[in-house]
Amino acid sequence: MQIQAIVRELCPRCHTGKIFRGPLWRTYLAMHERCAECGLKYDREPGYFLGAMYFSYMLSIPPVMALVLLLWWLTPWRFDLVIVAAFVAYLPLVPAVTRFARVLWLYLDRHFDPD
Ligand SMILES: [Zn+2]
Repeated sequence: MQIQAIVRELCPRCHTGKIFRGPLWRTYLAMHERCAECGLKYDREPGYFLGAMYFSYMLSIPPVMALVLLLWWLTPWRFDLVIVAAFVAYLPLVPAVTRFARVLWLYLDRHFDPD
């Protein structure tokens, strides 16, 4: 199942090989060069994962907006301070979002351009 493979960060072709070298808290974005199971090359070309940044933005907007609204309601702070505080509060989530965005990017790219 594709959704399961995405959540488990598995190869977009065989859904078996792991994309990352280890768990987020230990290896962050360190990826395998190729799928250990089917040999699929993950990093197709230099700058390939710049496309993943669009997913990072899209994934980041809803939680940041929610934090802004929450802080705006719960605190007497000025709006510019609320914006800054929302981004600071969101920072710890950035590594996980960046990693998930890479997985989504791999799947999208493989979907429209398989090998
Ligand atoms: Zn594979």
